[in-house]
Amino acid sequence: MESTKQMAVIVQKFGGTSVGNPDKIKAVAQRVMNVAKEGNSMVVVLSAMSGETNKFVELAHAMQEQPDPREFDMLLSTGEQVTIALFAMAVKAAGMDVISLLGDQVKIITDASHTKARIKSIDTELIEKYHKEGKIVVVAGFQGVTPDQHITTLGRGGSDTTAVALAAALKADVCEIFTDVDGVYTTDPNMCKSARKIDKISYDEMLELASLGAKVLDIRSVSFAKRYKVPIHVRSTFTDTEGTRVVEEDELMESLPVSGVTYNKNEARITISKVPDTPGIAAKIFTPISAADIVVDVIIQNTREGGWTDMTFTVPLTDYDQAMGIVEKVCADIGAESFVGDPDIAKISIVGVGMRNHSAIASTMFQVLAKEGINISLISTSEIKVSCVIAEKYTELAVRALHDAFELDKATPTEEH
Ligand code: ADP
Ligand code: ASP
Ligand code: MG
Repeated sequence: MESTKQMAVIVQKFGGTSVGNPDKIKAVAQRVMNVAKEGNSMVVVLSAMSGETNKFVELAHAMQEQPDPREFDMLLSTGEQVTIALFAMAVKAAGMDVISLLGDQVKIITDASHTKARIKSIDTELIEKYHKEGKIVVVAGFQGVTPDQHITTLGRGGSDTTAVALAAALKADVCEIFTDVDGVYTTDPNMCKSARKIDKISYDEMLELASLGAKVLDIRSVSFAKRYKVPIHVRSTFTDTEGTRVVEEDELMESLPVSGVTYNKNEARITISKVPDTPGIAAKIFTPISAADIVVDVIIQNTREGGWTDMTFTVPLTDYDQAMGIVEKVCADIGAESFVGDPDIAKISIVGVGMRNHSAIASTMFQVLAKEGINISLISTSEIKVSCVIAEKYTELAVRALHDAFELDKATPTEEH
């Protein structure tokens, strides 16, 4: 109904490729103004221009081998300041009222985990004041501030999280994530041509897809959305087509045993060999790693004869060097024989809520990989996903083979789950 469209609070987030040059910023501004003119209160969240944040990472490493985390955030947060200011100028040039705000001006308060800070609270007062004045509010994505005034960033891809967190705080009617693809697909459409757009997906499935590498939505944005029931619409910046709605599971019409295939090349594997197999050994290995705020993912322990064991696990690639440093010390402490790391791995996963009621999904996955001659080095499963760690060079082959084997290009709903 037209009347419900009026006076809605709408959060729109545009990613790096959508604001990659001045013309694109002008086009985005036009798009936002069209919705604002219908009487809606707009909050726009922008990323840095595509490539900018990567450039800053490189610059930082030219100064310091392991850049100081506080200063790293100080640098990385600047890309978004550029785009919000340019966007505001484009809107003003077109005669509408707008104001750009940084994370600390909005009071997006985070913890102090520089480079991967978590949002603790958001003050909506300032945004609401500007909305009452009829202004479009444009907020820098990806950044926040600690209670004692240090600038933080939320982790790569974090502008999605800024948008959803703002939508939750403002109780927005919808959070639209505009990007360079027109929705969430059964797998990365830039890797697999037969990938199919999913019309609706549950928060839980989206959470798994995002956590397993589908970077179209940042994982923490999906957690926020699920917790605060924020309706998300992922759609294209460049067309008006309907994208993908992220919804509650009971709103789903179709339920395929496998709804998506993901890959993640941003992890590394570490193996500690010949560890004395005594109680408390896992705690000794993983306590210092978690104290360094490194999130360990898949863990496998192999028991050897003679009271020894091997421990293999994966860590984010960005934490790999630090994790190897910690492991070196731990190995000396616990008397392990050796350790080895491999950053050239990929984690391939299949995800689907329908998996709960279908046996043999995991074994089909193993058979498909075996048929392609791909060796699996680690496996992990949950109720709605199966992940295999393989050599990075086989990523595309594995993704395409699994997408074909589970017939994800076909949209045929199966029985109820
Ligand atoms: P933005 O800069 O707009 O935040 P991202 O590059 O972070 O955009 O995310 C969009 C990209 O996510 C797409 O270009 C696509 O290659 C990738 N992607 C990976 N998996 C998926 C998926 N399952 N569905 C859609 N896109 C995906
Ligand atoms: N500019 C940041 C990045 O490249 C945040 C984002 O784009 O979401 O990671
Ligand atoms: Mg992104």
